[in-house]
Amino acid sequence: GHFLETIERDNPELNAFTTIAGTQAMQQARETDQQFWDRKAGRLAGAVIGIKEAIVERGRVCTAGSKMLAGFESVYDATAVQRLRDEGAILIGRLNMDEFAMGSSTENSAFGITRNPADKTKVPGGSSGGSAAAVAAGMCHATLGSDTGGSVRQPASLCGVVGLKPTYGRISRHGLIAYASSFDCIGPLTHSVEDAALLLSVLAGHDHSDATSSRKPVPDYLAESETLPQGLRVGLPVEYFGDGLDPEVKALVMQQVEALKAAGAVPVPLSLPHTPYAVATYYILATAEASSNLARYDGIRYGHRTDRAQMMEALANEKKMLQKAGQDPASVESALIRLYKQSRTEGFGPEVKRRIMLGTYVLSAGYYDAYYGKAQRIRRLIQQDFLSAFEHCDVILSPTSPTTAFGIGEKTDDPLQMYLSDIYTISANLAGIPALSLPAGTHPADGLPVGVQLMAPHFREDLLFAAGRQLE
Ligand code: GLN
Repeated sequence: GHFLETIERDNPELNAFTTIAGTQAMQQARETDQQFWDRKAGRLAGAVIGIKEAIVERGRVCTAGSKMLAGFESVYDATAVQRLRDEGAILIGRLNMDEFAMGSSTENSAFGITRNPADKTKVPGGSSGGSAAAVAAGMCHATLGSDTGGSVRQPASLCGVVGLKPTYGRISRHGLIAYASSFDCIGPLTHSVEDAALLLSVLAGHDHSDATSSRKPVPDYLAESETLPQGLRVGLPVEYFGDGLDPEVKALVMQQVEALKAAGAVPVPLSLPHTPYAVATYYILATAEASSNLARYDGIRYGHRTDRAQMMEALANEKKMLQKAGQDPASVESALIRLYKQSRTEGFGPEVKRRIMLGTYVLSAGYYDAYYGKAQRIRRLIQQDFLSAFEHCDVILSPTSPTTAFGIGEKTDDPLQMYLSDIYTISANLAGIPALSLPAGTHPADGLPVGVQLMAPHFREDLLFAAGRQLE
């Protein structure tokens, strides 16, 4: 009830939620109440959780922030959603995002922009901007987001909440609308590191519906992260503290290093030499995968379909014009091809189109080796950088984002500038390692939240939580 009041009051301005499931949430709350008295309450009994539009929920509209999927209702739950439900969570609504998770500001949604609760003239970050804003604004206990190149951690940082990108394959992707399948991860956004640890314990684990989900046993992350391992070595990669990093952000991040030192940790300066190639490598591989994943939106099976009558009329007119000009009317494309084209032209927004074009280009014959093949090789080198670094340290610490939240509209005309806001988050996705962003205080000049990022070896989320809990 209390959360619904907050949503009712603040959502019209923030636009974090796209759908508010008030009645259903109240019904779920009553059921959870009963389970409590029946001594059958789950680990998340009564936890109020919102879900990013990219993660499907049975019986609810799932748009991925795109006009292409406007009104599309899922007939099933994503595995992650099912696991929350099974533990008694109350699913309160759907959260705004950049279209198909492409963006860093939640300005690319077909359903309007989301505003940062800390300063409504600023973006909340993206693509899980709705998920971060909802937690920051106190509209729910936690949310699910997705992180392909930073989309959980960067908005968490910009809104001042905790965000986890788990190891690739730790949480099932079944029911996550695909962007770049070899990077995509579902991750929780929460008020505290403890909440993130509890949620991961529920969400993680093998799922027969996702062949890339790991069979590794799931630890009790809360219990495993209570104490900081003796003499924890904290790697500080020189490439993450250089040009482009706001000096005040840097100072706040270094304070976190001091706090860990005070708790017995040992800082280790190190280098991740291939870092400068991460953003370029990511945008080649992620757009290539996206162009293939988004081929399914053809206006036939599901999603937006162009108006048939108008389309047939246009085709007939074109044939007539060709005939008049003495040309072969058969050269007009078939109605089916036109249906695909027109549906996609109308359904996708400009950023998605840019990515599909980039992705098909880097995959095309003649350019494949020069771009896609080379990017795959660099991805391996970036992975290798981390594996070598983790021979000398247990976790790596860095800023999450080079600056605090930027102004609405500030970067919309410059996609390259927008892409750079993920400069510190993208490498973890290329390497498949887990990473956690948590609040590191507020910037002295603008009073906006600053985040610190921790990265760990594959499947060592426990180390992230242990170090993170020391910093709260
Ligand atoms: N901002 C990055 C992109 O636009 C990352 C997005 C994400 O993690 N989904 O691709």
